[in-house]
Amino acid sequence: MENPLTPEVLADPVQLTRALVDIESVSLNEKAIADCVEEVLRGVPHLTTHRHGNTVMARTDLGRSQRVVLAGHLDTVPLNNNFPSTMRGDLMYGCGTSDMKSGTAYALHLAVTLPEPRYDVTYFFYEAEEIESRYNGLNLVAQAFPEWLQADFAVLLEPTYGIVEAGCQGTMRSVVTTTGVRAHSARSWHGVNAIHAAGEVLRRLQTYEARRVTIDGCDYREGMNAVRINGGVAGNVVPDHCEVEVNYRFAPDRTPAEAEAHLREVFDGFEVTVTDMAAGAAPGLEAAPAKEFLAAVGAAPIGKLGWTDVARFAAMGIPALNFGPGDPNLAHHPDEHVEISKIRDGAATLHRWLAPA
Ligand SMILES: [Zn+2]
Repeated sequence: MENPLTPEVLADPVQLTRALVDIESVSLNEKAIADCVEEVLRGVPHLTTHRHGNTVMARTDLGRSQRVVLAGHLDTVPLNNNFPSTMRGDLMYGCGTSDMKSGTAYALHLAVTLPEPRYDVTYFFYEAEEIESRYNGLNLVAQAFPEWLQADFAVLLEPTYGIVEAGCQGTMRSVVTTTGVRAHSARSWHGVNAIHAAGEVLRRLQTYEARRVTIDGCDYREGMNAVRINGGVAGNVVPDHCEVEVNYRFAPDRTPAEAEAHLREVFDGFEVTVTDMAAGAAPGLEAAPAKEFLAAVGAAPIGKLGWTDVARFAAMGIPALNFGPGDPNLAHHPDEHVEISKIRDGAATLHRWLAPA
């Protein structure tokens, strides 16, 4: 295949977005796009380029005092009659236009066109962000070559519609179990109904007052919700077992251990099993490159409520935030699109931040 990422395309973030969208790269099918990106980066004299699986890393080594990461994933969710891209006025439609090839295009455009950025920059083009963590390119790099990720600050170019979304909330899944004694429902006084006992679990959730926390000027709003309920034996049996699955989204001022302690306090007296958890990430806007980045954006940051790869950097002590041109509400949507003017605005912002003074 002829590489569609020509010098002319690389020079323009809009054309580059479109070219990246038109290389199909549903998760686990990133080889073709990674080949194209790698070939481009290996031809750039001011970068050192490495590849691990279908994740490509390129970095400058200018001896700057600070290093920043710009990261974009190469994969998309499955196609949905939205490939290849189409243009309608100021809008580019297609799978990955918002999430997140328009953001990934920034990293590739800057990598190629900015030989002397103000900070040393590590650019990541990584595989499999949209599926389970064990395939995630950043996760695989963190295990195999953690030194590749070393930096003072990271920007993940996920869709935020041109504003800064900082940090992210943690998430915890748990099961609250109630038990009883099985009996024939015709003589129910011989049994203890575990589904009825779950009523108290639901009542505590219904009256639960979720916290709102402000950290570095960013608001985080917690939530604790029953997301599934399982119980019952048969139409004539008093059930002896009921499980309420509870998802707790917690602000990044709480560690997973603190979140778990809180959860157990809420369900005091019940059997609670934590089945899965992921730590949140504090917004980390105090680092010098972060402050300069916010100045270049010129608008107040907001808290990220979902979990993102920002937390992977936070776990390594690297402050990170999300910034990209796409509308996050359109990600994974069949009508996914991105505004051309948003792509240009964001590219100008990143240029203001990274270009030598
Ligand atoms: Zn994404």
